[in-house]
Amino acid sequence: MFDPQTVTTIAEARCALCGALVADAMPPSNPAETLRTCRSADCRSAALLVPASDGPHRELALRTQRLCVRRRRKQRQRAERRIAWAREVRALQRAAVRRRLQSQDEAWRDGSGEVLDIPLLDDRFVPLPAARREAFLAHVREVAARAARASADTASECASADKEAHRLASTRQRFARLPQLRAVSDALCTLCRGGCCTSGENRAYLTVATARRVLATHADWTPNGLIDAWATYLPSRHVAGSCVYHAAAGCALPRALRSDTCNGFYCGSLLRLHERADGEGQVPPVAALQRRGDLWERFHQERDLAVRRVALVDDGGVTEPQWRPDTLPLPDPPALD
Ligand code: SF4
Ligand code: SF4
Ligand SMILES: [Zn+2]
Repeated sequence: MFDPQTVTTIAEARCALCGALVADAMPPSNPAETLRTCRSADCRSAALLVPASDGPHRELALRTQRLCVRRRRKQRQRAERRIAWAREVRALQRAAVRRRLQSQDEAWRDGSGEVLDIPLLDDRFVPLPAARREAFLAHVREVAARAARASADTASECASADKEAHRLASTRQRFARLPQLRAVSDALCTLCRGGCCTSGENRAYLTVATARRVLATHADWTPNGLIDAWATYLPSRHVAGSCVYHAAAGCALPRALRSDTCNGFYCGSLLRLHERADGEGQVPPVAALQRRGDLWERFHQERDLAVRRVALVDDGGVTEPQWRPDTLPLPDPPALD
C-alpha cells in the first residue's frame, strides 16, 4: 500500500525512511514495497520489511526501519572516514620515507625510487587441522572428477581461466625481458611472507582448468594420480589461518601443480612496480614499507598502520635503512562520534 503522507508533490518528496529530500523519489516498484523511498539500497531494502496494512505493526516496523537505516548510514560514514584517513597515513609515511632516502642515499637522490606498501604476515605455524585437510581433499576429488568429464560447464570454466593464463604468460615475458625484476619481486614476496595466500583457504585456487592443464602435461597421470600428487605436497604444519599449502618456506606446492591464479598473481604494489619497470626498461630502487596483517585486511577499519619494517630491495638483495621504522609519522585516528 502506498503511503500518501510521505509524498506531497514530486518536487518536495521525502524518503519515508531516511527523510532525505528527493525530487526523484522512487514510487514503489516491487509489489512488496509499500513506501516511497529514495534510491538508496538501504532504504529500498528496509521498505520491504514494513507491512502494507495500516495499524500498530506497521507503525512499529516503520520506526524500527528508520532507526536501522540511520544506524547503518552512520556506521558506513565512520568506516569511510577511517579508510580515507588510513589512505592519508600511508601516503604520509611513504612521503616521509622518500624524503629521508633522498637526503641520505645516493641511489635515491634523483627521486626516481619506488616506495611501495606490502603486508607483513604473521608467520605463526600450526599443524594443518585434519578438518581442513579433509575439506581440501574433497575439493580436489571434485575438481579431478569434473576435469575427467568433458561437459559444457567444465568447458566454460576452462575458457574463463584464459584470462589467468594470459596474465601468467605476460608476467613470464616481462621477467624474461627483465630478470632483475623477478629477483626483486621474489625478494619482496619473501619479506611479505605470502600476505596474499591467506585467501587460498582450503582450495588453494585449484580448479578444473588447473587439473586439465596438469593432466595434459602428464600423459601418464590419471585423475586419481593427480589427487595423490596434490595430497602428497600438503605440509604437516602451515601458517595459521592461511592456505593449506602455506608452509614455513612459502608455498609447499611445486609451481607446475599450482593454479595459474597462484603462479600469475601479484598484489597491486608489485603490479605497479612491474608496469613501471617494464615501461622504463629497468628496475628502479625499491623501498618496501611493511605493516602487520595480510593483503586483504588493508582496508579494515582497525588495521594497525604502524610501519614495522622498511626494506630497501634491489637485485643484489635486501638492506635496511639506518633509521628505525617507528620514527615514521603515525597520526592519531580521527575522532568518530
Ligand atoms: S604478491 Fe604482494 S601480497 Fe603476495 S606475497 Fe608478494 S608482496 Fe606479498
Ligand atoms: S597454493 Fe601456494 S601460492 Fe597458492 S594460495 Fe596456496 S600457498 Fe599461496
Ligand atoms: Zn532514504
